[in-house]
Amino acid sequence: MSGERLSLRSLYHLVRTVIPAHCAVCQRLAPAGICESCFASRLHLILRWCRRCGKPLVSQLAGWEGGCGNCAGRGYANLSGVRSLFAYTEAAREILHGAKFGGRARLLAELVELAWGRYGGRENPAFLLGIDPLELDFLVSVPLSMGRYFMRGANQAEVVASTLARLSGISLLSRLVEKARNTPSQSGLSRRQREQNVRGAFRVNRRLAERVRGRNVLVVDDLITTGATVQELAKVLKKSGVGQVFAFSLFTTDPRFG
Ligand SMILES: [Zn+2]
Ligand SMILES: [Zn+2]
Repeated sequence: MSGERLSLRSLYHLVRTVIPAHCAVCQRLAPAGICESCFASRLHLILRWCRRCGKPLVSQLAGWEGGCGNCAGRGYANLSGVRSLFAYTEAAREILHGAKFGGRARLLAELVELAWGRYGGRENPAFLLGIDPLELDFLVSVPLSMGRYFMRGANQAEVVASTLARLSGISLLSRLVEKARNTPSQSGLSRRQREQNVRGAFRVNRRLAERVRGRNVLVVDDLITTGATVQELAKVLKKSGVGQVFAFSLFTTDPRFG
């Protein structure tokens, strides 16, 4: 350990490696942190989605050119497409909660790897990413404020993004966008409050801005609710000269699952 002192965090990780992992959803023994049964039956992969906002399409009538019932008439102008992999079900909530507040950020990497392996990431990455990787130059993760980063021990969006980068071969620029100011938690806020809460919250790192000029990026987050965060980020990226901005999230809220 090159003379490093054993910090509380490394001690925690040491303990985690010797205690067998349990499924974050059903608590049964599961080395990956999510068991086969919960992955297959309690997570809902989104098969058909609105290209504009990423919400699941439940009827053939929904999802015309201008968007779906969720996004029609709303400001998605800076985003060229949104893809979310799973509906935010009770099981998804437990996984994300474990990743954010239970020190188990690795759960999100496991989930991305499982989805990539089971749903043909290698053969058909466009289905999982929502866009052909050949059209993308970089992945960008949604930043977390320093305070939240230290409280959680990881940036969950960055865990998802780095796993996708490894699997897809697309480079990740995790420091491209920074928090310009701290923002209160988005949970419990209305759509309008969320939009106000994130306005002006991000800035592009000047040293990296030149690398993305005219390039296409995929913004990666863990959860999309109203889309206010990814829309604000897309706006900032477009202003600094990025070509097309797409968004990806592991989960998206879905009225069918409350
Ligand atoms: Zn389980
Ligand atoms: Zn839509």
